[in-house]
Amino acid sequence: MDSKPTGSELRNGMPFLGGHLWLDLLNSTPIVAGAEQDLLATPDRFARWLAAAGLQQPEKPAEGQARRTLAALRQRLRTAFDELRATGTVSKTAAYAVNLLLAQARVELRLEVAASGAQLVETFDPGPGGPAAAVARDFAHFAATHAGASARLKACANPACNMVFFDAGKNATRRWCSMALCGNREKIKRYRKRQAEA
Ligand SMILES: [Zn+2]
Repeated sequence: MDSKPTGSELRNGMPFLGGHLWLDLLNSTPIVAGAEQDLLATPDRFARWLAAAGLQQPEKPAEGQARRTLAALRQRLRTAFDELRATGTVSKTAAYAVNLLLAQARVELRLEVAASGAQLVETFDPGPGGPAAAVARDFAHFAATHAGASARLKACANPACNMVFFDAGKNATRRWCSMALCGNREKIKRYRKRQAEA
């Protein structure tokens, strides 16, 4: 097993470092060797990304539609990310797009009783929106519970990186999508510069 922190940041080589599912969706177009890769571009990639995200695979005939719906939501949430950072609020347009997906989803509640105690179990059925509805739910939950925290929504400080993340650190000083991916590279660059100047 790799003991470096990348373990929690990369799943099957795909970035999951946003801290929230909807941010990980935005991070599904990473820049690899200078070119943007779309991790949802083909049915195979889509299936791999869903598995890494822990999302249910849609049934075969609905797969293409589910992929397009998720890619469209990604576009929508990119704008929402910028809006949140700029204004601190979710626009009505973003809420409308999210609500279209949530309207078709279903939440089931069940009280489970075990020897250790009772537990209220919530099951989310995304409905025809598929994985996009699950991401819409994550975004809605984020927007409803992180009021005033939009300054913690950040883009990686590496100009050659397009990752975004939620900085959950106590002092909110995180600059890099990940120390292993971008932070160390920057440190090495600075070290080399100092060596060259010495
Ligand atoms: Zn980065």
